[in-house]
Amino acid sequence: MTQFQYPAPKLFIAGEWRGVEGRDTIPVVNPATEEVIAQLPVATIADLDEALDAANRAFAQWRATSAFERATILHRAGQLMRERAVHIGHVSTVEQGKVLAESTAEATASGDIFDWFAEEARRAYGRIVPSKQPGVRHNVLKEAIGPIAAFTPWNFPLTIPSRKLAAALAAGCTVIIKPAEETPGTCLELARALDDAGLPKGVLNVVFGHPAQISEHLIASPVIKKISFTGSTAVGKHLSELAARGMKKTTMELGGHAPVIVCDDADIDQAALAMARSKYRNAGQICIAPTRFYLHDSVHDRFVDAFIGHVTRLKVGNGLDPTTTMGPLANERRLGAMASLINDAVGKGARLQTGGARVGNVGNFWQPTLLCDVPNTADIMNIEPFGPIAVTQRFDDLDAAIREANRLPYGLAAYAFTASSSRANALGERIEAGMIGINFAVLTGPETPFGGIKESGHGSEGGIEGLDGYLNTKYVAQA
Ligand code: NAD
Repeated sequence: MTQFQYPAPKLFIAGEWRGVEGRDTIPVVNPATEEVIAQLPVATIADLDEALDAANRAFAQWRATSAFERATILHRAGQLMRERAVHIGHVSTVEQGKVLAESTAEATASGDIFDWFAEEARRAYGRIVPSKQPGVRHNVLKEAIGPIAAFTPWNFPLTIPSRKLAAALAAGCTVIIKPAEETPGTCLELARALDDAGLPKGVLNVVFGHPAQISEHLIASPVIKKISFTGSTAVGKHLSELAARGMKKTTMELGGHAPVIVCDDADIDQAALAMARSKYRNAGQICIAPTRFYLHDSVHDRFVDAFIGHVTRLKVGNGLDPTTTMGPLANERRLGAMASLINDAVGKGARLQTGGARVGNVGNFWQPTLLCDVPNTADIMNIEPFGPIAVTQRFDDLDAAIREANRLPYGLAAYAFTASSSRANALGERIEAGMIGINFAVLTGPETPFGGIKESGHGSEGGIEGLDGYLNTKYVAQA
């Protein structure tokens, strides 16, 4: 690749790129070096109104575009994401921090998400229901909901916007998206790919600014028919309240605090390797990251030794360095959060087994950390850490372990390891989570539903459910 330069971030409204001219700005910071790499334009109220108008006008045209034609554009965008994966990976790593191999893989995976939904667009079937009355036809139609407001976080600056955009656009909806201000460039690369693929003007609009101001303005507009948010449970509840005022549909992908149950008959080495890889990917800033490890008493120490064996091989550093295996936290406020969770747990009797401190004094680097025998009174047993910290407790009764796994209001992802198929069945049925990995750690793919229950939200992204989230069901009785 020729010398990489971080592209100046812009707003994308009605098919036009709008820069900082005459607008307030927000600095974009590289979390590995603390350097300001760009100034992000803040959308004015006039910008937001123009985005609303563009999304509204474009909806009439886009919903009437054949599914086949929509699919062609989405496939083309997916192909461009794959072709540009190395460039997009660099954009993502310098603004978000994750290692380049992960960022590049995210761009390639985004292409796959667009391919999946392009194909699903052609299968948005309705049905005809047999009628009791002769000559009457009961038609069930699937129709695009309308313009969508989407809000996405900084931890997967490409995967999360891709899931929302690919599904919404495939269904025939138009979108105004506000990606995280920390990581604007990556989603803008996605917008560029869609623009280059021939997406009509106004079908996609990208805005940035003060999150609360933008969400209040967009959600209150009668133009917006659905809200799709990924982020913390607290913000998700707030946006749900705003949506309820207009009885608008929502998809909420919120926080998690994934439990891991390791039974005494499990393959401990396999479990430790799979969980160490999952835990510290993206420096633990993943809503489905395994966090609360409930380990059978007879295998606790063996699991911890094997897990630490993998942790000590991690190399923390700048994601652009090819030898790095764990990058920095995405922003400075996460450093304070890590310190306070660890100090609180140790103060309440937890044993710090490895890690526990910041690395260096430039960049948001934190050591991969494992705390053992952490009491339920510790904050970290109750609050999502969203960072590179895992915690353990011991159990000798599986029912008690399942009760502990289900103790929190979260219900996003969970993991379990056992060699027994009857235990595997019971764990799959009894753990309260939207996604469960049993002897397996990979829970994301375009073809499978992704989403939580309880306070981790509702709605699924991915799979056939992903498309359905952007369709209304209409019943037409015809005599
Ligand atoms: P946050 O909830 O404040 O922010 C998450 C995202 O939501 C950001 O991109 C932010 O711009 C946006 N946001 C915040 N307030 C908003 C509002 N009023 N309207 C619209 N968008 C708004 O959290 P944070 O400090 O950035 O991250 C910390 C916590 O967020 C984590 O502990 C974790 O619980 C959660 N989080 C979850 C996910 C996920 O994938 N589920 C992703 C990122 C963060």
